[in-house]
Amino acid sequence: MEFIASISDLKDALEALRRRSAKVGFVPTMGALHEGHLSLVRRSREEMEGTVVSAFVNPTQFGPAEDLDKYPRPVERDRELCEKAGVDILFAPPASEMYQAGYATYVLQERYSEPFEGALRTGHFHGVCTVCAKLFCLVRPAVAYFGQKDYQQSVVIRHMVKDLNMDLEVRVCPIVREEDGLAMSSRNAYLSAEERRQAPALHRALAAAEQAFAAGERSAAPLLAVIGKVIGEAPLAQMDYAAVVNPESLREVRRIETEAVALIAARFGKTRLIDNTKLTAK
Ligand code: AMP
Repeated sequence: MEFIASISDLKDALEALRRRSAKVGFVPTMGALHEGHLSLVRRSREEMEGTVVSAFVNPTQFGPAEDLDKYPRPVERDRELCEKAGVDILFAPPASEMYQAGYATYVLQERYSEPFEGALRTGHFHGVCTVCAKLFCLVRPAVAYFGQKDYQQSVVIRHMVKDLNMDLEVRVCPIVREEDGLAMSSRNAYLSAEERRQAPALHRALAAAEQAFAAGERSAAPLLAVIGKVIGEAPLAQMDYAAVVNPESLREVRRIETEAVALIAARFGKTRLIDNTKLTAK
């Protein structure tokens, strides 16, 4: 595996990779890799001939009061995990390489980046779109793999790719969870023991909504009431939002005709966690 920090080395390594692999898959991450990230790597390895992973804690997607400085950066461990997973290139540049002196160009998406995470984390998707556009230009993958865990992000990226005629496909892969249902996240490491104990409430709330949906409930309000009740049973959880949305437009729906996504975000102390589930009528 090539472990690369500079854009010029990345270009050389990609040229060599492309000579032996016609189809390159790409997994953009912020590092601190866990099984969720590795599931995307495995999917790329199954479907593509070459796999590139980026591990870059992108400063432009963090707000001024957010956890940029304390975000975990276990570079050597990430390198070992990628090596073992059969990754061809791991690109882990410093911020000064991605945003060089005089940097001035950003990708701004309207609409899909505005509600939910966008409303609570000003400029977040501005940074996400910018870094993904830059990475897509560099790697030029056939397919980029994203996790459903960050559902709004997957919608934002899909629309960016379509709107800007980027020549790649976006594939969204299922959420990987801990045994107790908590969606894996690099931020779970911030939770205190008691917060960690209560954090699966997010998943339990979504599972309760799924159950109500399976039993025939098609109105959003009672599903949200079920979610609110379960979250209410975790005293350390402070809900930021819960919503039932159209999977494509992210607009809130009152009734579910065929398909919707239930989105949830809550804070446990200083740690924000997000989760979601698809609700699909059989
Ligand atoms: P991050 O490093 O948090 O920016 O995540 C990088 C990619 O991994 C994103 O596409 C995430 O949606 C995806 N991802 C993160 N956690 C999980 C998970 N638990 N299951 C599946 N994909 C995930």
